[in-house]
Amino acid sequence: MSDAHRYIALAAEGVQRLAPYVPGKPIEEVERELGIRNTVKLASNENPLGPPAASVEAASRALGSAALYPDGSAWALKRGLAAHLNVTPECLTPGNGSNDVLVLLAEAFLMPGRSAIYSQYAFIVYALAVQAASAHAIVVPALPAHHPVKPLGHDLAAMREAVDDRTRLVFIANPNNPTGTWLDAGALRDFIASLPPEVIVVVDEAYAEYVTDPAYASAIGWIDEFPNLVVTRTFSKIYALAGLRVGYAVSHPVIADLLNRVRQPFNVNAPAQAAALAALDDAAHVRRSQQLNAQGRVQLGEGLTALGCQVVPSEGNFLLVRMPVPAMDSYQHLLKAGFIVRPVGNYGLPDHLRITVGLPEQNAGLLAALARMPGIAGARC
Ligand SMILES: *Cc1c(COP(=O)(O)O)cnc(C)c1O
Repeated sequence: MSDAHRYIALAAEGVQRLAPYVPGKPIEEVERELGIRNTVKLASNENPLGPPAASVEAASRALGSAALYPDGSAWALKRGLAAHLNVTPECLTPGNGSNDVLVLLAEAFLMPGRSAIYSQYAFIVYALAVQAASAHAIVVPALPAHHPVKPLGHDLAAMREAVDDRTRLVFIANPNNPTGTWLDAGALRDFIASLPPEVIVVVDEAYAEYVTDPAYASAIGWIDEFPNLVVTRTFSKIYALAGLRVGYAVSHPVIADLLNRVRQPFNVNAPAQAAALAALDDAAHVRRSQQLNAQGRVQLGEGLTALGCQVVPSEGNFLLVRMPVPAMDSYQHLLKAGFIVRPVGNYGLPDHLRITVGLPEQNAGLLAALARMPGIAGARC
């Protein structure tokens, strides 16, 4: 046994210190452990409406050809996306989730001796990807919790300051997970324009379709202008296909070509490609999801605030909430009441929980369960 520990020293330097990603607790596991049923998972920012019917159908049909390898170039999906986004197919790199393209970016541009920049409280996959590449991570302090406009948000001025001659990647999550914070279009555009051309800026837009603030804009429209800009998107969030793993990067074709060199030839499976393409055609599902989320975000935010929680302003399909009682106690209390939410101690936010916006009745149920917790404002226990 102790002999086996020697292998740790044999791993790449970054891997030795790598802590694996901790996903949201699966429903089955919670129900098995607590002996409860009808659990509601609000822990992984999944779409409570479920996948579009056309996607389920297309994926099922594709299963009939499961003996064949998928289209390694994802030709049909890229063509559909290109039309949808008003870019050329050469700008697109398909990924096994956008997590995949984030890792491909690190593989293609990072190595020991190079650095990547991201914000404190930014999506944790950036840290994992940078570390796995044994590169140096520059973590820039976020804006303070008492910031009047963007509490816990990215501090773009400080991130610009942090760029040095070893920097090859800057990760920007817009909106960010787990904070829900976002950047105004003008500020982000100025930031990108200020970067030296050898620094690639990755704008992660996993939640772009949920944003309602008119000051926000997708960076995809700036691709032609900035050859060092990469935008990542996913079918996991508003398109409700998280289980199938489809995402993509939009960039200058030269960067797409580099990502293609490190990409596994068949990284997106055939049912996933078919489902994603079908989802693009269901604009009504996206609109419904967006509206439901915008309403649920207000419902949940107001309810949590009334219970004495501090809610961080969010443009995503989730809220970061500072609990008035110990966050892990609230987490356990909600778990027993049948609601799985996400503790974010691993993000350095031990007093917060991240709660995904659910269906109206799920949001109401969570608020009612929380109101029954001792120590919560209005609790009668
Ligand atoms: C969920 C999420 C992703 C992507 O997840 P995939 O399922 O791998 O596409 C990317 N970035 C952020 C900020 C996320 O929250």
